[in-house]
Amino acid sequence: MNDLGPDESPRWQFVEREYRTLMAAYGYREVRLPLVEKTELFKRSIGEVTDIVEKEMYTFEDRNGDSLSLRPEGTAGCVRAALQHGWIHNQVQRLWYGGPMFRHERPQKGRYRQFHQLGVEVFGLAGPDIDAELILMTARLWKQLGIAHKVRLEINSLGSAEARQAYRETLVAYLREHEAALDEDSRRRLETNPLRVLDSKNPAMQEIIAAAPSLLDALDAESQHSFTALRTWLDAAGVSYTVNPRLVRGLDYYSRTVFEWVTDELGAQGTVCAGGRYDALVEQLGGRPVPAIGFALGIERLVELLDVDSLPLARYRPHAYLVVAGEAAQTHGLLLAEQLRDALPQLRLLTHCGGGSFKSQMKKADRSGAQVALILGEEEMQNNAIGIKYLREDRPQETVSQQQLNEVLLPVCASA
Ligand code: ATP
Ligand code: MG
Repeated sequence: MNDLGPDESPRWQFVEREYRTLMAAYGYREVRLPLVEKTELFKRSIGEVTDIVEKEMYTFEDRNGDSLSLRPEGTAGCVRAALQHGWIHNQVQRLWYGGPMFRHERPQKGRYRQFHQLGVEVFGLAGPDIDAELILMTARLWKQLGIAHKVRLEINSLGSAEARQAYRETLVAYLREHEAALDEDSRRRLETNPLRVLDSKNPAMQEIIAAAPSLLDALDAESQHSFTALRTWLDAAGVSYTVNPRLVRGLDYYSRTVFEWVTDELGAQGTVCAGGRYDALVEQLGGRPVPAIGFALGIERLVELLDVDSLPLARYRPHAYLVVAGEAAQTHGLLLAEQLRDALPQLRLLTHCGGGSFKSQMKKADRSGAQVALILGEEEMQNNAIGIKYLREDRPQETVSQQQLNEVLLPVCASA
């Protein structure tokens, strides 16, 4: 579990801000949900024989003896809340959420025990139009974050429950033929959830997985049709992708469209965003059947991909740093700063506090990243003036009257 320091938080804020803007642009509305749910909810939705439920959840008994778990993902809680509050039936909902998720995994680069996701869940639409919208929306996000060239899209269709059942038998027969070569995990999954064998990350398993019969050959007609339509939309929108028939996702609730955005720049932890359709989940959790689709992206991995030098991070730095030399200036400075904030609400002004020499204050002004230092010394106090030193531009220092200051600061505020 990581601490996020003040030097790193601007990058996170940048991602979160772009995401928020994107959500508003597509008409998605935010929900904020508890970090803790009944353990039962995750078992019923994610699946008993998944890595998450078998070995990754932070589960504890509360004072009443109820078994609760820190949420390992957002979908289960969102469906629970939607059912509880009637957000789901006879209507279309486009929802988004963000926040920490918890999985007791082996920590390594890009894999943490508390990590952060941004995601969406859409209820009441069977696709494939909405499936396409979701993917186009994520593609737009990568552009806005400046990382489009670093990620690629993989898609697959898991078909209907019946098609999957039929495929399951074909797959089991194939895997039994190669049982001797299966690793321990896969042998166990062969019994409990054979599709998950395709999800194995063990390099030794990849040859067997690559040669396995493809689920795409076993698709039902409707899923086939839907998948073709999705591909046509992606083609028309110029979003390139590869069809990966081994993409099954690690959770039980997916059906039909599934997708992942992956990168080669983060080693083994290459999936930055993953999603898909989960048409059976609402019913499984006690509602009337409602088609649904969603995705989640991992902020930690995304932030790693950002090209820090080209980010518009100026908006997270102050515009101006007010230097106050001498006791009278200190007293007046704090009040002048308040007046400036009244007059220029968009101004980001750092006021020097705590005294110190003029020289040390100027150093701090420079280190703050501000564009200008506003200088209030003895002389300025006497003349009702203020000095302006441009810290990032080759431009001579000016002295203006305190009345003129607003005007001088306006373009500085407008710059970022
Ligand atoms: P992986 O295959 O990397 O284990 P997953 O299939 O378990 O991922 P999802 O449950 O689909 O992941 O979560 C969606 C996204 O959340 C992932 O693509 C990843 O970006 C991020 N994520 C998942 N688990 C972690 C983790 N332990 N630490 C950091 N980010 C994570
Ligand atoms: Mg995982």
